[in-house]
Amino acid sequence: MLTKSIKTRRRAPGKAAGRAPGTGGWIERKVGALRILEASALSRIPWLIHGFSTRPGGVSDLGGEKVLNLGFAEWDRKENVLENRRRFQSAVDADDMVLCGLSQIHSDVVHVFEAPPAAPCRGDASATNRPDLLLAVQTADCVPILLVDSRNRTVAAVHAGWRGTLGRIVTKTIGKMQMQFGTKPADLLAAIGPSIGGCCYEVGTELAAEFRSQFANAADWFDELRTGDEPNPLQWLKMSPPGHQPPPKNVLLDLRQANRAQLLEAGLLPRNISVSGLCTACRRDLFFSYREEAGTAGRLMSVIGFRARAFARKICRQASGDGR
Ligand SMILES: [Zn+2]
Repeated sequence: MLTKSIKTRRRAPGKAAGRAPGTGGWIERKVGALRILEASALSRIPWLIHGFSTRPGGVSDLGGEKVLNLGFAEWDRKENVLENRRRFQSAVDADDMVLCGLSQIHSDVVHVFEAPPAAPCRGDASATNRPDLLLAVQTADCVPILLVDSRNRTVAAVHAGWRGTLGRIVTKTIGKMQMQFGTKPADLLAAIGPSIGGCCYEVGTELAAEFRSQFANAADWFDELRTGDEPNPLQWLKMSPPGHQPPPKNVLLDLRQANRAQLLEAGLLPRNISVSGLCTACRRDLFFSYREEAGTAGRLMSVIGFRARAFARKICRQASGDGR
């Protein structure tokens, strides 16, 4: 098993996005043909299982390329997806855990699992304090967020696209964890996985206006489209005088920063938030991108959980005076 650090291309958000010593790092593990990303801060918790999948490896055929598609899709066979899931679970050392996926609907609905659901529930986040459940969210550009409260042994997985972000799904997930498990936000570690970056996520100005109506600091997450050219004098001449609507144009939205801001507002410490700088649209060698590939985009999966027996091992070690 080869371990190496992956270089993330941070977009210099002006804030220390997961750059505090020891928490900002990401690890790429190669397991056979698969490449799994982990947040270093989460990897250091001995009993925790977590991982973010990537594109290479797997048994699905996408135009001659073998990919690890983890979501059921028209272009892929169900057996392939199940085999890919089996391989991914094995690669994150969770083959014996029950995969708890969701029927994702871009909502703000959060489920708390006390046992594996009989069928995937409709919603976009889940939390549990039960061992042997592997919480999962699927993405292809949207933001996957994994949360762990190591004091209360509670974990959560969140899927946040623009709708979920606008609906504050990550804030609501933390609220549920506080209510049900007594989680203190200052104890939480968060890993914001690979998603479409502020470099590529073009949205309409009406969406920017919607975010501004909901968040005081929304302006920080938007950027103008830049072509690298000098300003076009014709465009300047066509600008409307004050009081009139400017011509409609698109802007770039940084969903990762929007979710990081929600985590901070909920009370997480900046040093406890790891943000992957990898963009799913820029790095199609590593990820799937719905924006770039539409109907033929595969799905990435982000998982988190813990096993009863791993925790039992840890308690034994503690009882025998062996710290971790
Ligand atoms: Zn990009």
